Amino acid sequence: MSEQRAAGTAGMDVGFFRAWIDRAGDEVATEKERLTALDAAIGDGDHGTNLHRGFSAVREALAAEPPASPGELLTQVGTTLIAKVGGASGPLYGTVFRRLGKALGEAETVDVRELATAFQAGLEGLTKLGGASVGDKTMVDVFAPAVDALRAAAADGASAEEALNLAADVAEAGARETIPRRARKGRASYLGERSEGHEDPGAASAALLWRALARTAE
Ligand code: ADP
Ligand code: MG
Repeated sequence: MSEQRAAGTAGMDVGFFRAWIDRAGDEVATEKERLTALDAAIGDGDHGTNLHRGFSAVREALAAEPPASPGELLTQVGTTLIAKVGGASGPLYGTVFRRLGKALGEAETVDVRELATAFQAGLEGLTKLGGASVGDKTMVDVFAPAVDALRAAAADGASAEEALNLAADVAEAGARETIPRRARKGRASYLGERSEGHEDPGAASAALLWRALARTAE
């Protein structure tokens, strides 16, 4: 475990969140084709390229203007994703990150309970903007249960590593659970029953972000 990732005791600092976003960007780059193939099946086949473009721009923005706090970093990530990702997922992910950043304010370090509360605000921003509920076969099917799991684990006194690993397990299960569902929001909903039997691309990318976060805490 590197010093900046000593999330369990010292709290998560700007270096921790930077490491998360770098890892997430690497994962998006690696999984770009898979995400795009999922979107080709029930959407327009751009989800992997959309996110890859967004996270490349995020990397450049963070290098050009290194943020001083977790809140500032996450707000910058959100603003960049909104500006650079075409498609529904840009504003939706952007809103999650901007809400996370706003909730964390100017604190230099964040503990797991504060992170859980911030993710709750992120989830509320996501559902308010997109209008989706759990079961509609979107990224909400991942975010909602993962945020619940994170909040419950934090309330039980779990370490960041334990809580984030639990949340990532729940996130991956949430993504798998989208497979049999019929899409009720977004482009895939135009397909009606033909959307059944495919994993939702936004749910898949959301699970990837949660796993990257858990790995950062290990
Ligand atoms: P687009 O659908 O505009 O091409 P993307 O392909 O980048 O955008 O992203 C598609 C993903 O966005 C979907 O798989 C779904 O998870 C998510 N999504 C779409 N609409 C909504 C919504 N209203 N609420 C939540 N998530 C949504
Ligand atoms: Mg698409």
